[in-house]
Amino acid sequence: MGVQGSGKGTQAAMLAGDFDLVHIAVGDIFRWNVQHHTKIGAQVRRTMAAGLLVGDELVEGVVRDRLSQHDWNYGFIIDGFPRNERQAEFFLESYDIDGVIHLDLPDREVRRRVLARRLCSGCGMDYNLIANTPHVAGQCDVCGSALVRREDDTEEALAVRLREYHQKTNPVLAIFRRKEYVVTVDATRSREEVQQEIRKRLNLPPFSEDAVSTGQQSESGR
Ligand SMILES: [Zn+2]
Repeated sequence: MGVQGSGKGTQAAMLAGDFDLVHIAVGDIFRWNVQHHTKIGAQVRRTMAAGLLVGDELVEGVVRDRLSQHDWNYGFIIDGFPRNERQAEFFLESYDIDGVIHLDLPDREVRRRVLARRLCSGCGMDYNLIANTPHVAGQCDVCGSALVRREDDTEEALAVRLREYHQKTNPVLAIFRRKEYVVTVDATRSREEVQQEIRKRLNLPPFSEDAVSTGQQSESGR
């Protein structure tokens, strides 16, 4: 769990790659639907353009569908879910949870990271003007198309999302804390440091760059 820009997609991918876990990123499922102009995609697009979080029923439906595929052998790591108390109760009732990783990032740092995100208007590749800049300013390294902000990455939309995030997430963390599942990790540090801290806290073997290739992950926090 973590606010957008906290790097939870990156951290989840690093864990999934190393431990043969299926990585389920709710944001990616939604983005796929938007790009492929599905009915779900149209609903998501309207919500995001207004700067709001996608509705509970829609999120739950998408997650239930994805988890019902049962394609994991060693388990799964999910990011972007659960986001409210109801989803947390559903999750607790339905699955055995080993741990909840909470990536802690102050709002001012979220603002700095999120407002630096860019997306290629051609191929959809993610960029970040802090850590992952293109070779030519404003241009995609892969296809040369113009880099744009996601339409939901404005100051105003972000302020609404942060408020909504804290309102909904604090009670969820409280539920998981009562079950003693939560490890809170300072997410302001580098992605390697954050990964090591997660593993130390969960008694997992340390991360090694040689052992796993995660590719060029952006810090877009999906
Ligand atoms: Zn491109």
